[in-house]
This record gives sequence, structure tokens and C-alpha cells, in this order.
Amino acid sequence: MRETKSSIFKLLIVISFTFGVFFLMPNFVKETHAEVAPCAVYGIHQMYPKNTATVKYEGTNINAITLGTMAKCVCGASIVYNGRPYSGGALGTYVTDPTPDFGAGGHFTYVASEENVMYSSSSHLPGYRFN
Ligand SMILES: [Zn+2]
Repeated sequence: MRETKSSIFKLLIVISFTFGVFFLMPNFVKETHAEVAPCAVYGIHQMYPKNTATVKYEGTNINAITLGTMAKCVCGASIVYNGRPYSGGALGTYVTDPTPDFGAGGHFTYVASEENVMYSSSSHLPGYRFN
């Protein structure tokens, strides 16, 4: 009788442990592996601020971002944003990989279609690191 109780107890421990792992795993996977890793060099882009940049809506003279910051990864990925992600602030309005506006004559001006102009109230963007 004692043996049986002991076995059931052990079985319960194994079951709760198994379920515990089962419930913890999705979060674990989400935290560590679910982030997109689009960078050919680092996996996740390491973005470094380069210069001030303005982004216009394609085919218009209207600024989507005025005097924002252009940050680049060594792989060539770029982003222009008007927030302060490096100090933990919101990214704000941002455009990834805007097209240089060659007509702007040496200024750091880019164009982007309206659907590529995004907003984030977070300082974090999946696939990108602002260090
Ligand atoms: Zn990259």
C-alpha cells in the first residue's frame, strides 16, 4: 500500500513537471526565438544613427518625417524615425529602407509610399536593435 502511494506521488510530480514545462515553453520560445532575424550579418539588424534625414510621401511634396534620424546596419538595412529609441523613448514615425530622393541634390531626403510609413510607441522594433 505504501509502495503504491509513493508511486502515485512520483507520477503526480512527473505529470505536473511535464505540464509545467508544456505551459512554460511557448513563452520561452516566444521570448527567445520568435523575433524575426532578417539580417544577413547579425541576424537582428544592429542600427547605428548616421545622419539627419527627411522622408517625403512618394509623388508628393509632403513630409512623412521631417528632420528625423537615419540609422543603418552594416548589411545595408536602413530606417528613418523621428523618435528617440536609443534613450528608451518611442521610435515614433518610422520608415524602413526608404528610397533615396536623388532629385533633392545632396540632402538626405528619401521617399516612401504611404503604406511604408509606420508608427511605434515602443523603443523596440522586432528584427532591429538600436544600440
Ligand atoms: Zn543588418
